[in-house]
Amino acid sequence: MLLPTALSERAPAEARDVARVVERTAARDAAPARAAAKPLSGITIALDPGHQLGNHNFPSRINRQVQAGGFTKPCNTTGTATNSGYPEATLNFAIATKVKARLEALGATVRMTRTRNSQSLWGPCVDQRGRFGAKVGADLMVSLHADGARAGGRGFHVIATKSRKPWTADIARPSLRLAKALRAGLDGARLPRSNYLAGGTALTIRSDLGTLNLSDVPVAMIEIGNMRNASDARRMKSVKGRSTYAAAVVSGIRRYLSR
Ligand SMILES: [Zn+2]
Repeated sequence: MLLPTALSERAPAEARDVARVVERTAARDAAPARAAAKPLSGITIALDPGHQLGNHNFPSRINRQVQAGGFTKPCNTTGTATNSGYPEATLNFAIATKVKARLEALGATVRMTRTRNSQSLWGPCVDQRGRFGAKVGADLMVSLHADGARAGGRGFHVIATKSRKPWTADIARPSLRLAKALRAGLDGARLPRSNYLAGGTALTIRSDLGTLNLSDVPVAMIEIGNMRNASDARRMKSVKGRSTYAAAVVSGIRRYLSR
């Protein structure tokens, strides 16, 4: 059918208007869907990159005794390093930064016990690290470390807290679940389990760590590998390797949260 001239001239403009309304409506409808699609929206996660690069420059400060859960311990330690001198503090910070970015992209709020890695800084002490999760209202905390064991030992292990009143009895059960979820995340990335402790379970339960003892939110510590082992050190020193670690940690956190 031929349209009258006046209408046929108007029609394309009307069609464009309709198209724009449809687009706007679609965008409005999609907005809540996008927000809901972020799986970690509403979750706050505390990350604790172990040690601080400058700790060795402040011996009196880091050797000061602090509360660690019914006993005292030095504020902090220097951490270990690879044989070529790549420091644990730097590794922990690099992995934590990648974990943070991935978690935030998934909608989580992320707080870190330290936001810089510098030779001119020290701490925080283990008591502050332990209390950090509750202080920032976190749903959980993951403390990131790497081990310095004999050269032949390789692989990761996770550390959960022993249940001790009045310190950890309230968080021991979810903390063990978190440790196991992190182990599953690391297993899923085909990272090797520790072959030098815990009989292949890659899981230890400890009561001597202030960072775990003083936590009032579910917490687990990861020793991501052995820095003195050549194979582990190679992965730790590569950007790709650190991304693998970070993705595995995020996978573990998501398993724990079932999100
Ligand atoms: Zn450490």
